[in-house]
Amino acid sequence: MEYQTLNNGLKIPTIGFGVFRVPDKKECEESVYQAIKAGYRLIDTAASYTNEDAVGAGVKRAIAEGICTREDLFITSKMWVQDMQNYEMAKQAIDASIEKSGLGYLDLYLLHQAMGDYFSAWRAMEDAYKKGLLKAIGVSNFYPNILTNFCEIVKVKPVVNQVELHPYYTQEKALETMKKFDVVPEAWAPLGGGRYNPFEDEMLKRIATKYNKSVGQVILRWNIQRGVVVIPKSTHVERIKENIDVFDFELNEEEMKQISSLDMGYSGSRAKHFDVEFVEMCLAKKIHD
Ligand code: NDP
Repeated sequence: MEYQTLNNGLKIPTIGFGVFRVPDKKECEESVYQAIKAGYRLIDTAASYTNEDAVGAGVKRAIAEGICTREDLFITSKMWVQDMQNYEMAKQAIDASIEKSGLGYLDLYLLHQAMGDYFSAWRAMEDAYKKGLLKAIGVSNFYPNILTNFCEIVKVKPVVNQVELHPYYTQEKALETMKKFDVVPEAWAPLGGGRYNPFEDEMLKRIATKYNKSVGQVILRWNIQRGVVVIPKSTHVERIKENIDVFDFELNEEEMKQISSLDMGYSGSRAKHFDVEFVEMCLAKKIHD
C-alpha cells in the first residue's frame, strides 16, 4: 500500500474503499470484509449512508480473522447536514458515528457538505480531535472559495477535502487551492460514479490495452499520479480486487494529458453544489429523528 502524509503527520492510504449506496447491511459488511481481505486499509462511509454499523461489522470480522489490526486501518465517516446546526448537535453526531461503528474511534471525520452552521460543527470536531476520538478531521465538497475562507479562519486545518474528481471533472483549480493549504484531495466517484461511460472511451481503452490493465485501473491510476486519494466503490469481489491493483504501472506525461482532456468543466452528477435546489434538498434530508 502507498500512503500520503496528512498535515497532522498521519498517513492516509492512497486508495480506499467507498460504501455509498450500499444500504443492505449484509452486503455492506461482506464488501468491507472482502475489501480488507483484498488489501484495502481505508474504508469510507458517512452517517447519511446509514451503514456505519455494517462497516464496523465488516472491519471487526477482518480483525477477528487476523487479516489486520485496528491500527492498520483508516476508517472515515462524515457528519450529515442535519447535525450541523450547532455545537451540541455536532458533538452528539460524532459520538453517534463512533458508537455505531463500534470501533472506539474514527481515523478521519469529515463535514459532508459546506452547509448549515459548519463552523460550530467544526469546533465540535476540533474538540473530539483533541480528545483523540477522531485522529484527523477534514471536509468534503468545499469548493475553492469556501475552502479558502475556511482554512483562513479555523484553528485546526482540515487534512483532506473529498470532492468529485475523475477525468470528466478534473477540477484543476480546486487541486491548486488544496495544495496551497496543504489539504490532501480525495476523489469521490473516481470511476465516474456510474456516469460518463469511461469504459467505452477509445482513448482510455487504448491506454488500458497498452499496460494490460482495465479502463477502471487506468483512471484510478491517473488520479493517484496527480496526488489524489481515490475511494472506488464496488460490491463485486472481482472489481474490488481489480480496483486496488494499480501500483505496477505508470502513465506517461502524454497519457496523463490525454486523460485530463476529457474534462467537461462541470459535474454531471446529481450533487450540484452550485444549485439552490441541491442545497435545499440537503438541508431537508433527515437521516434520524
Ligand atoms: P465510483 O466512481 O466508485 O463508481 C462506483 C460505480 O462503478 C458502481 O456502479 C460500481 O458498480 C462501478 N464499478 C466499480 N468498479 C468497477 C470496475 N472495475 N469496472 C466497472 N465498473 C465498476 O462512485 P461512488 O459514487 O460510489 O464514489 C466512490 C465513493 O466516494 C462512495 O462509495 C463514497 O464512499 C464516496 N462518495 C462521497 C461523496 C461525498 O459527497 N463526499 C459523494 C459520492 C460518493 P458495482 O458496485 O456493481 O461494481
